[in-house]
Amino acid sequence: MAHGKTAKSSGKTFLEEVRHMLGGETLASCYQCGTCASSCPVARVSERFNPREVIRQSLLGEKEEILFGDALWLCCSCYNCQERCPQKVEIADVFYALRNLAIREGKMPNIYSEFSAGLMSEGKIVPMSKFLEKKRADYGLPPLKPANMDTLRKILSATGFDKLKKKEEPQ
Ligand code: SF4
Repeated sequence: MAHGKTAKSSGKTFLEEVRHMLGGETLASCYQCGTCASSCPVARVSERFNPREVIRQSLLGEKEEILFGDALWLCCSCYNCQERCPQKVEIADVFYALRNLAIREGKMPNIYSEFSAGLMSEGKIVPMSKFLEKKRADYGLPPLKPANMDTLRKILSATGFDKLKKKEEPQ
């Protein structure tokens, strides 16, 4: 295996691991009807993403494929699938659980690394540019106050957020 632990090396199957995560509790109720895929706006425009397929892989314990693939990050969190699932699988929340597992294993898309760096350095995931400042002024909005970095750093430290790091991608 190229990455991290195998599904059983932690003593739990991957399915059990996900079901014990916040958001992953309902995963095992899926019976693969496909309602999620047919209501997904991302799946409508991209063949790279199919929520039913990610759920299927999770049920089958295909940990490496899920955590180190790209599909996981294509969910736009619209919750269409979750609203419609006849089994009440909290699909979008399962995706958050899977993303949290992926990040624990060091898989973090570049954009999330940039968000994370911005949050830790300035308290903003999107840096405020002169252009955005001017746009705010044009709309009559007041300038943004700087973040309270002391408080933010305490929160990031207490939650372990500041320890999350992306590992180098394998060649
Ligand atoms: Fe599974 Fe629910 Fe998607 Fe149907 S809609 S495939 S039960 S997650």
